[in-house]
Amino acid sequence: MSSKPTLAPEAQHSFLRGVIERVASARHDPRPPVIVFDLDGTLLDNRPRTVAILREVASVWESSRPEASRILASVEVENICYGLADSLAPFGVTDEALVAEAQTHWRDRFFTDPMLRHDRPLAGAVAFAHAVYEAGATLVYLTGRDLPNMSLGSWQSLRDHGFPIGVVGTELVCKPTFEMSDELFKRGQAPLLRRIGQVIASFDNEPGNCNIFLETYPEAASVLLDTQHSTHAPPLLPGVLSIRDFSLG
Ligand SMILES: [Mg+2]
Repeated sequence: MSSKPTLAPEAQHSFLRGVIERVASARHDPRPPVIVFDLDGTLLDNRPRTVAILREVASVWESSRPEASRILASVEVENICYGLADSLAPFGVTDEALVAEAQTHWRDRFFTDPMLRHDRPLAGAVAFAHAVYEAGATLVYLTGRDLPNMSLGSWQSLRDHGFPIGVVGTELVCKPTFEMSDELFKRGQAPLLRRIGQVIASFDNEPGNCNIFLETYPEAASVLLDTQHSTHAPPLLPGVLSIRDFSLG
């Protein structure tokens, strides 16, 4: 899906170290350096959230559908794809009614504050966020999670995992409503980041969002996290870099 292959580990390490250096050299500029992070699939792996929800479905189904319940309870993080139906098909759970029921439960639970505690930071994410923050960057967590249902859990999750949050030079920006499309939201928000300072780099797992940032800030690094993304994603524009995680080596 990437226009370029994902950077090899050494290239990723030196690229990320270069971002830290660029922030450090811009810290006394009239317009302070800004680093933009998406949350789901970027700083945080949300697949454990889906696994936790499947375990809930498994317990609901325990007596009525013991076989399907046993299967759902056995699904691990590595088995989770972008779509729930795709995640369950390899286990033989293809019955439309069953999948639809699991899907409904998933949709009711996935986009809610209490479930966000299941997310786990990507490798190196906490350390990298601290490194750019300490180097002088303002961090903007720009997420398609919605303000009414997911902002408090997001804030708590960032705090509990040790990301810089709740201190000068950090912002959590959420989508105003659940129904709004993530891409429309980010397209509207991206130019507004100029009021904070100069964007040095942005990180997102959705090719569409990476393209928006490359178009809005061609002088900055637009970086794709090669984790999972939506199945209807557009091709990545040439110029967007791709990395696997935030490990600095
Ligand atoms: Mg994302």
